[in-house]
Amino acid sequence: MASRLGKVVIGGFTTTVGAGLAGYLFLTDEKDRRWPIKAHAERAPLKAKRPLPSRDEQIKSLQSDSFDIVIIGGGATGAGCALDATTRGLKTALIEADDFASGTSSRSTKLIHGGVRYLQKAIMQFDIEQYRMVKEALHERASMLHSAPHLAHPLPIMLPVYTWWQVPYYWVGIKMYDFVAGSKTLKSSYLLSKKNALELFPMLRGDRLSGAIVYYDGQQDDARMNLAVALTATRHGATVANHVSVTGLMKERNSQGKEVICGVHVKDELTGKKWTIPTKCVINATGPFTDSIRKMDNPQVKEICSPSSGVHITLPGYYSPEQMGLLDPSTSDGRVIFFLPWQKQTIAGTTDLPCQVTHSPKPTEDEIMFILEEVKNYLNPDVEVRRGDVLSAWSGIRPLVSDPNKPDTQSLARNHIVHVSGSNLVTIAGGKWTTYRAMAQEAVDAAVEACQLNPAHKECQTDGLLLEGAHGWTPTMYIRLVQDFGLECEVAQHLSKSYGDRAFAVAKMAALTGKRWPIIGKKIHPEFPYIDAEIRYGVREYAMTAVDMIARRLRLAFLNVQAAQEALPDIITIMSEELEWSEEEQKQQHKLATEFLQNEMGQNVNRASRDKIPINLSKEEIQLYIKRFQIIDKDRKGYVSINDIRRSLKSLGMKLTDDEIHILLSDINVKNNGQLELADYLQMMSAIKSGHVTYSRFARMAELEEQKHEKEMLKKKISVERSGGGL
Ligand SMILES: Cc1cc2nc3c(=O)[nH]c(=O)nc-3n(C[C@H](O)[C@H](O)[C@H](O)COP(=O)(O)OP(=O)(O)OC[C@H]3O[C@@H](n4cnc5c(N)ncnc54)[C@H](O)[C@@H]3O)c2cc1C
Repeated sequence: MASRLGKVVIGGFTTTVGAGLAGYLFLTDEKDRRWPIKAHAERAPLKAKRPLPSRDEQIKSLQSDSFDIVIIGGGATGAGCALDATTRGLKTALIEADDFASGTSSRSTKLIHGGVRYLQKAIMQFDIEQYRMVKEALHERASMLHSAPHLAHPLPIMLPVYTWWQVPYYWVGIKMYDFVAGSKTLKSSYLLSKKNALELFPMLRGDRLSGAIVYYDGQQDDARMNLAVALTATRHGATVANHVSVTGLMKERNSQGKEVICGVHVKDELTGKKWTIPTKCVINATGPFTDSIRKMDNPQVKEICSPSSGVHITLPGYYSPEQMGLLDPSTSDGRVIFFLPWQKQTIAGTTDLPCQVTHSPKPTEDEIMFILEEVKNYLNPDVEVRRGDVLSAWSGIRPLVSDPNKPDTQSLARNHIVHVSGSNLVTIAGGKWTTYRAMAQEAVDAAVEACQLNPAHKECQTDGLLLEGAHGWTPTMYIRLVQDFGLECEVAQHLSKSYGDRAFAVAKMAALTGKRWPIIGKKIHPEFPYIDAEIRYGVREYAMTAVDMIARRLRLAFLNVQAAQEALPDIITIMSEELEWSEEEQKQQHKLATEFLQNEMGQNVNRASRDKIPINLSKEEIQLYIKRFQIIDKDRKGYVSINDIRRSLKSLGMKLTDDEIHILLSDINVKNNGQLELADYLQMMSAIKSGHVTYSRFARMAELEEQKHEKEMLKKKISVERSGGGL
């Protein structure tokens, strides 16, 4: 008891001193005055200049124009730099080797945050640099929510507290977070008793709980936010192109005899065409790939990136309340664990392991199991955490960097770094999604100075600048979409949140359903609100491959890998109408997207984990499943063929296309040869029994087929008895 009391006293004392210190810093910190959001509000808002050019027009511009500034990398940082540079009046190009947000920027936790944990450190260690980082991030959090309110929203997050003396400790800490945010606080944090915490988060394990604190951070659709930044940049005049990679840097001697970068060698990854682009300045915003560009500048340069991978999993929505996340900032082994509602599902994570830099990071079974095991600790026993509930899993690479400006190049920078090389390559790396705009501002400031550029506006213009879709958006805008277009309410809400005021342009492209209601908007998957028109509109937003569409224009691959696989044929059909894909190209797109889902979105690890399950069925169950299998395998070949399935579906009155039948078979047929063997079926049923798989359409079909078969047998039996009875 005495030691508990001691902890309270020490905790109370430290937090009070911390609060005093932070309060002092808050009132006196010069840095706070550097973000004059008010001044920005007083400025005449910048008007977007033009409609979106097509990708062909963007490529033509890259082939014929010369630029003030070329930015390499179309993630959050690069897109932010492009928007900053173009709104200052610089002639800007943004070049992305794959798709916008195809790297780390679509694979984040989707939080827009100041960093509660960093604030704790800042206070405990009297660390002013850390404090400034948090303050900057809290400013940026407010700026992002203002700039794209359709793509970002405040999210209440619960911190469970397990010992009573931690309650005041956490409470003061979280109040400090609100306090440091000042006028940028999203909503005030509050304390909850154990009873109220369990009422709000019923799936939380209550036995050890003492209470909880709820605080607010932002949450976003990261890939669409990234795209919105890039599209806003292009509307303001920047030339932006995805699927174009930088393969080398060009140099020349300037008037002072110094060798400086004067252009980039590029390759269109879709056509294979190569050319050069002249420019006065180059910004390297390639995240984890930063060293590959630095080496193009100077092959001898010391590497600064120490990549680390972070895996997330998507679980069904019932793992968390729809409007409340959960975060434990200090698990027993010092990691952060969270699960957050996102787009009607739950995302949980994350891991932190050193890795190699790659364009296609893959989640591993160990990482997925680690997250599941952690999640289990927080949920009450009613919520059975099952491997089969993992709907999707992905890995992102943190671009952790050391600062080449500092003599100690070993230790990692806490924040981002901006470095200008001897030949004027400006590198921006590290940091976090939340601070992309401030990072871009610093990088463009450095570029203007190093390359002696003369922008029309010397000062950054992006703080508070509205992004694509934000101008006419209101939270109730979706009602007009329902009333004016006859869209289903859930679809209208989804369009409004994904496209902002551009949702009207999307709705105009929607096909008639042929039904009385909804009038327009054919869903591309029955379980999700994505509609046909989004595929057509996605092409106008520069989606050039099926992967661009399922992973970043729509977020289906991140939400449910199986649903993404099922929607793929329809998506490819619509894309091929827009992009005039040949049959061969359609097949290729299907293959590449399937590989993406298998490798990068966890489909293969899900399968491999299922196949490791030992057959755990009882004798009776095995007999039942053999019976069901034989009903479908009518001619007793020993396997079920596509034709058997077709016949069975027909008898059940279901009409499926060949593609749909292949999909139905693919979630069970491990060999992918179109033949399903009894062993595969028993394996699947074992996986369902042990919770490794939640649902299999084939298993359901077999069950229905058996019920039908039983009914028919009964009818036959009755008619025989009746005829025998001779009424
Ligand atoms: C697991 C995880 C969770 C995270 N969660 C959060 C969070 O919740 N909140 C937060 O604020 N931050 C978070 N972050 C951090 C944040 O996601 C990153 O800091 C940010 O996305 C990095 O963006 P970037 O543009 O620097 O890099 P990237 O998004 O990786 O972009 C770099 C781009 O450069 C392109 N490129 C590479 N080479 C070339 C070339 N030669 N030519 C042209 N293009 C090239 C790549 O294709 C890529 O698209 C998280 C990070 C991870 C890993």
